[in-house]
Parts: sequence; structure tokens; C-alpha cells
Amino acid sequence: MAGLRPTRQRVALAELLFGGPHRHVSAEQLHGEADTANVNVSLATIYNTLHQFHEAGLLREVAIDASRSYFDTDTSDHHHFYVEDEQRMIDIPAESVEFKALPKAPEGMEVSHVDVVIRVRRASA
Ligand SMILES: [Zn+2]
Repeated sequence: MAGLRPTRQRVALAELLFGGPHRHVSAEQLHGEADTANVNVSLATIYNTLHQFHEAGLLREVAIDASRSYFDTDTSDHHHFYVEDEQRMIDIPAESVEFKALPKAPEGMEVSHVDVVIRVRRASA
């Protein structure tokens, strides 16, 4: 549990999150899944747990805008398509995005990672 106390709720949420293939999930989606699985947790607890998992390095957070974040169970380097009309993330392998020039990090700082989110929508016919 990456140094986190394995409370019943954390274990149940970890099972929902990590029990299958890699995926991207919002707090609201996970809350719905918890409900369906009869795991009784508040949305606030879901938020706290997701942020604790994120801080423990188990999840990567991908912010779409100020009010919407997805949590990615794949913490390796990669980028994302965000399908706007379906509110869904699709992975882009790290090597398919190339940067011609990146600014140097400010004095005394280093780049931690670079996130690219490419927003897409259904092409109109
Ligand atoms: Zn991803």
C-alpha cells in the first residue's frame, strides 16, 4: 500500500482502481463504481484517497481544466488525447510526441515531466 495505512476503504478503492488493465478515472466515476460495488464512501473520501494514492506515486493526475482531473493508473511517461464530447482519455505513447524546442527550466529548477493533452472531438460529417 505504498506506506499508506490499508484501511478497509483504501483497500476497496485500490481494488477498484488497480484490479484491471490501466485506465483513467475521475473521482466522480470512481464514486459511481464504488456505489455499484456496495463500497460505501463519500465523494470527499474518494478525492482524499485519490490524492493520497497520487502522492504515494501510485497514480498520475492529468488535469483537463480547473474543475476536471483524471487519475491514471499508468504512471509511466506518456501523453493523452482527451475526447471532449465523451469526456474520455486515450493514451499516446511518449515516443510519438517530439519537441523541437523546450525552454530551459528556470534557474535552480528542473523539468519534472511534460504532459501533453491533445483535445479531440468527433469530426463533423
Ligand atoms: Zn494515460
